[in-house]
Amino acid sequence: MKEHLRCIECGAKYDINEVRYSCDCTGLLAVERPLEVLESLGPEVFDSRLGSRNAADRSGVWRFREAVNNLDEGNIVTLPEGLTNLYSRSNLSKWVDCDQLAFKHEGENPSGSFKDRGMTVAVSQAKRLGKKIYACASTGNTSASLALYAALNGGQALVFIPSGKISLGKLSQALAYGATCISITGDFDKSMQLVKQAAEELGIYLVNSLNPFRVEGQKTIIWDILQQLKWQAPDWIITPAGNLGNTSAFGKAIEEAVAAKWITKKPKIAAIQASGANPFATSFKHNFESLEPVTANTVASAIQIGNPVNFPKAKRTITQTNGLVEQVTDKEILEAKYMLDKNAIGCEPASACSLAGLKKLRQNNTIKKTDSVVCILTGHILKDTETTLNSLKDSSYNEIVESDGSIDSISKLLK
Ligand SMILES: *Cc1c(COP(=O)(O)O)cnc(C)c1O
Ligand SMILES: [Zn+2]
Repeated sequence: MKEHLRCIECGAKYDINEVRYSCDCTGLLAVERPLEVLESLGPEVFDSRLGSRNAADRSGVWRFREAVNNLDEGNIVTLPEGLTNLYSRSNLSKWVDCDQLAFKHEGENPSGSFKDRGMTVAVSQAKRLGKKIYACASTGNTSASLALYAALNGGQALVFIPSGKISLGKLSQALAYGATCISITGDFDKSMQLVKQAAEELGIYLVNSLNPFRVEGQKTIIWDILQQLKWQAPDWIITPAGNLGNTSAFGKAIEEAVAAKWITKKPKIAAIQASGANPFATSFKHNFESLEPVTANTVASAIQIGNPVNFPKAKRTITQTNGLVEQVTDKEILEAKYMLDKNAIGCEPASACSLAGLKKLRQNNTIKKTDSVVCILTGHILKDTETTLNSLKDSSYNEIVESDGSIDSISKLLK
């Protein structure tokens, strides 16, 4: 018995090494592996790898390798990723009135976002398949991550970016690592359509989260948190939600951890969208009957997505964990970001959705004061400097002070 690809709609099975991103019935595909494999792993195996010097053991993704993508170690393309910290801040606990609050900082990955966890697995799978040209559509972080892993593996990255809609920091990363950057007239959703067509017609390997191996890698965000919490699941895990790759991965990670008895309690997943890019939140309100795509518009460019491709998987996560979907305004996002930055954590705008969402869910008491909560921070503070500077200025939180160069002008600044 081994791994295979399984359609989440009709159950059709495909070989694990078939290059495919959807079923003949158009359903999404997921990697499925025998329960015995998961049962043969667990806290003892994973904890024993923590002190190892082996490259795969040291990665926060490949430490869980048999449950992520069981390939020969020679095919593993790793930097290593993961190994991100879990922070607590009493000021932030007070701000949202939540006693047990921690932040998982995925901005500490090699290219500055959680995308590396999925990308190391997708590019490793590409290596196993002998594919050397990869492509993605991206609001920025996926392209930065792909560019990095393509450079590491000596392949070519093609990134499709919506023109004028990604931050310069992310674009400069993709260009610097050597990716071919294609600016597409239109939004992310249009870029996504085009890259799917390019993958189909030109045989390029697609590494968006539609690729089931991306989702496998991103499961490790959850397992990493569980390991850091000594395998005691928190009550809630809150995540920003755009294309819904993470939301999808989190549900699978929890299902597998419970099935294999690594944990007994299921954490609930709360997915938070920006109110200007909220198709998933709207669908949740209507019991997930359908997904109505929107034209997305938010300051949180990483989640400016109107037609999320992983909707069918993500809705399962919310249903199976008894979770929820909430939305927050740009103003609430920037306020939460300001609090995270000032309290020595720091993140990019989209990441602050998780804290902004928690604040709202505490205010209406959906989440209780005594619940244990982990907020995911998806990207690094340096990812979107334009938005950071603008928001500090607009809200008169902080600005550059001019000086005529005299010591007097400096002395006046001392409190
Ligand atoms: C990609 C990204 C998201 C959205 O994640 P999905 O898995 O697409 O929902 C959120 N924040 C940041 C910083 C991202 O790069
Ligand atoms: Zn199918």
